[in-house]
Amino acid sequence: MKLKDKCAIVTGAASGIGREIAMTFAREGAKVAIADLNKVAADACAGEIRAAGGQAIGVAMDVTDERAVNDGVAAAVAALGGVDILVSNAGIQIVHPLEEFSYAEWKKLMAIHVDGAFLTTRACLTQMYGSGRGGSIIYMGSIHSKEASLLKAPYVTAKHGLIGLAKVVAKEGARHGVRSNVICPGFVRTPLVDKQIPEQAKTLGISEDDVIKKVMLKDTVDGQFTTVQDVAEVALFFASFPSNALTGQSLVVSHGWFMQ
Ligand code: NAD
Repeated sequence: MKLKDKCAIVTGAASGIGREIAMTFAREGAKVAIADLNKVAADACAGEIRAAGGQAIGVAMDVTDERAVNDGVAAAVAALGGVDILVSNAGIQIVHPLEEFSYAEWKKLMAIHVDGAFLTTRACLTQMYGSGRGGSIIYMGSIHSKEASLLKAPYVTAKHGLIGLAKVVAKEGARHGVRSNVICPGFVRTPLVDKQIPEQAKTLGISEDDVIKKVMLKDTVDGQFTTVQDVAEVALFFASFPSNALTGQSLVVSHGWFMQ
């Protein structure tokens, strides 16, 4: 077990990528807090982990709410016995041409991705520094941390920003044994992507099948979606890496859509 007795908080873990990361971490021996806006789904996910013999709790958390983040992290630390790993994963997508974005939509997306990353990082760093146990902070970036696409101005801006945040955390956290890295997945079939397919078809005036083949997977090496399991494996690699040798990095997992 690669994460035996480690304590992990995963935000946005009631669905999609975060859920799979939480399940994977629990299978590897971690105690996991499923932190999500959707408390019912978070509790269900935690229940599934416990039924399989793992340790998990659901935590209600809106990552854009300073008090909710601080209280949620404190509750998770009290229940699990500390925090060694944060996966800042909660996210949404809103697609429009830039000139059609309302300021409210821009701010909502930036708040969840960027403010949420800052607030959860600050709350967990305080714990990690105080405990002297060090830790690993993992941000859910995207191909859009490296590359732009049509219709995604705030998302591309936010995901690029997470790489900057991870680099600062890597520098500041090093002397406390805290590492920080970014995972950059290509398209993964989750509710977040399923919602975009009809939206993009409408905006671009093409069929949903063409959105998948000619937009989403066009530049992959094999026309395949990345899976939640693929992303969870990378999260496990970052979470279990034993030293500061691997910090301040971003790793693309995208079937070759983007090559560095
Ligand atoms: P998803 O919609 O399946 O899950 C997102 C989760 O975040 C949901 O459980 C939702 O309740 C939660 N959430 C939303 N707002 C929140 C808030 N304010 N506070 C707490 N929780 C909140 O989406 P997903 O595809 O699993 O996406 C997870 C992350 O992966 C996101 O950051 C997304 O940008 C990123 N990502 C996804 C893809 C993809 O193709 N699906 C690709 C690259 C990156």
